[in-house]
Amino acid sequence: MKKTVALLGSTGSIGRQTLEVIEANKNSFEVFALAAHNEIKILKEQIIKFKPEVAVVSDEKAAKKLSLDLHGFKHTKILSGENSLNEIVANPKVDIAFIAVSGTAGLLPTLAAIKTGKIIALANKETLVVAGHIVMEQAKKFKVPIIPVDSEHSAVFQCLQGKNKLHIKKIILTASGGPFRNYSIEELKRVTPEMALDHPNWSMGKKITVDSATLMNKGLELIEARWLFDIPYNQLEVVIHPQSIIHSMVELIDNSVFSLMSIPDMKIPIQYALTWPERMPISNSEEIDFTKLKTLTFESPNHKLFPCLKLARRAGEEGGLMPVVLNAANEVAVALFLEEKIGFLDIPYLVEKVLDSFDNNSPNPELEEILETDRLIRKKTLQIAEKLF
Ligand code: NDP
Ligand code: MG
Repeated sequence: MKKTVALLGSTGSIGRQTLEVIEANKNSFEVFALAAHNEIKILKEQIIKFKPEVAVVSDEKAAKKLSLDLHGFKHTKILSGENSLNEIVANPKVDIAFIAVSGTAGLLPTLAAIKTGKIIALANKETLVVAGHIVMEQAKKFKVPIIPVDSEHSAVFQCLQGKNKLHIKKIILTASGGPFRNYSIEELKRVTPEMALDHPNWSMGKKITVDSATLMNKGLELIEARWLFDIPYNQLEVVIHPQSIIHSMVELIDNSVFSLMSIPDMKIPIQYALTWPERMPISNSEEIDFTKLKTLTFESPNHKLFPCLKLARRAGEEGGLMPVVLNAANEVAVALFLEEKIGFLDIPYLVEKVLDSFDNNSPNPELEEILETDRLIRKKTLQIAEKLF
């Protein structure tokens, strides 16, 4: 039986690699829906190739243009509008809701997919960062599996299989350390978007690539892990591992450590999320050649040069709305950095300022409060940032 997939964020880095995996396994998977924001050129090619029943373009103008462009192509209905993503994931034909959109746009569709009992393949970490308590509680209630796509969390998810929760001492997330691992503070001041977008090991969307360079990505991943694996922050550690061969580790109470190793290739965790709980051979991906690896190295993160990791841990530990504030402030700061309006070191500066100024008085926020705070903090971050322009 083929599994049917609704792929949200199909035009992005994860989305395109997911379609590569699906194309290589046409007998196992079928695309029911594709969704993007406004990249209609890529989406059009994907629609013609995969012939989904539905495609969603969240930008309405772009949706109209795509409908005109695809005039005469009868396979695919084009939708737009606020509720469309929630509708397509909830369609009874869908088995797997693959959430590969960026930012908080993933939250509501993830919840809609959970409520309708889909398998959730979750790449979008922001969903768990801002509303992990709600998403995991709903997943438990509806008995829905959340299969992480993020490589570190996919590794931990797999290492935890067959383990007794009481035997876990800690989870160690690995981080490449990004392109500026050995920079001085003076050199960091001069980092340009072009330099930050050139990641040594992974090819990803722009926002997450900058987050990898500031180490905010690892900070967001700490919060993501806290919710996915229901583990307190004092049992979560980060170690820099520049080769990105070990994708994370689980240490047990007898000091045995389990890890997952592979070359850095997102197609591997993507395929696992699609085939779970089974596995399949993978095409277009290499195996590790241990004779060529020579060394695997590890070091502590440099918190002085890369304060984002600690800021994220603080936001996670303080809980309530702080992770929402962290995520929104960071998204705005990264966008401003990419527009060359602020410098690389202004990213942690801005995030810290916004965190410091927030009155965190809602320990268990509801969905509406989360979305409202997200909107308010984006405005506030811009206001504070304007003083830096
Ligand atoms: P990209 O920026 O490459 O792609 C984002 C995708 O989301 C695009 O398809 C984009 O559409 C779509 N999108 C953006 N905003 C909206 C919106 N408001 N409504 C609907 N669709 C929207 O990101 P990545 O693929 O790199 O990352 C996707 C998610 O996966 C992120 O949450 C990231 O943190 C996570 N992730 C990514 C990894 C990677 O290797 N890239 C690794 C681990 C996690 P359009 O193209 O039309 O703008
Ligand atoms: Mg990751």
